[in-house]
Amino acid sequence: MAEAASSIFGGVFAAFASRFCTAEEQVAYAPEHSVRTSARARRISLRVLPGKGLEVVLPPGADPARVPEVLQRHRQWIEKHLGRLRESQPPAGARRAPHEFALLGGRELIRLAYKNTNPQALAEKRKQPGPLTDPAPGIRSLYLPFSPDKDAPALIARALREWLREEARSRLGTQLHSLALAHGFHYTRLSIRYQKSRWGSCSSKGGISLNACLMFLPARLIRHILLHELCHTRVMNHGQAFWKELFALESDALDRDREMRRAWKHVPAWVFME
Ligand SMILES: [Zn+2]
Repeated sequence: MAEAASSIFGGVFAAFASRFCTAEEQVAYAPEHSVRTSARARRISLRVLPGKGLEVVLPPGADPARVPEVLQRHRQWIEKHLGRLRESQPPAGARRAPHEFALLGGRELIRLAYKNTNPQALAEKRKQPGPLTDPAPGIRSLYLPFSPDKDAPALIARALREWLREEARSRLGTQLHSLALAHGFHYTRLSIRYQKSRWGSCSSKGGISLNACLMFLPARLIRHILLHELCHTRVMNHGQAFWKELFALESDALDRDREMRRAWKHVPAWVFME
């Protein structure tokens, strides 16, 4: 079922192409877009979605020749939402291995100690990434058995991703478990993934998947996403019943939801380095 996994973003930017909009444009406006016919659609609608961009959804029998006119008429809306999508996308990467990065929206700094560059790390001669003695409160040292001068940045990024995945599994897992316990939710399993388009999802069987990139976000946004996915174990869609559940647990859920549009700014470029 297509709706089995519901995304945080799904439908957030959806808006109906209203025939009451009267914006007039002389120059042909042709942004990049895809067109799809949906059996459930009642009228032509526009959507701007992460990973997909602008999508025009036609009801059965609608004439595709009408699309240019619809794009033209909704130019302002399209530009606004494409702009917002660009802002919310993962940053394009500089191909350099990081020396430090921040978790929890800057609350926790991870300082990297590479092979041959840190006397303490050298003395330990370890083969696996792992913690060193923390230099100060809020700063953690992480040893990486790589040399930033000799090893490819992509190789280092991969090792960091694996480290962060385990970190996320343990810390997000603990938080999800205690939120579920506190509010009487039941989920069947937790998986941690790296995704560019969604922060979490919940399957119809109650399995929750969380994006490891959540670890970069401020604690209030992490909690928001965890609660959002837990609410899906009771309500699979984003309808009224869903929001009622969420508001009962988080009165400022709408503010958090709005804040999520810019959440990618917390995620460093190396995360998606290939
Ligand atoms: Zn959702």
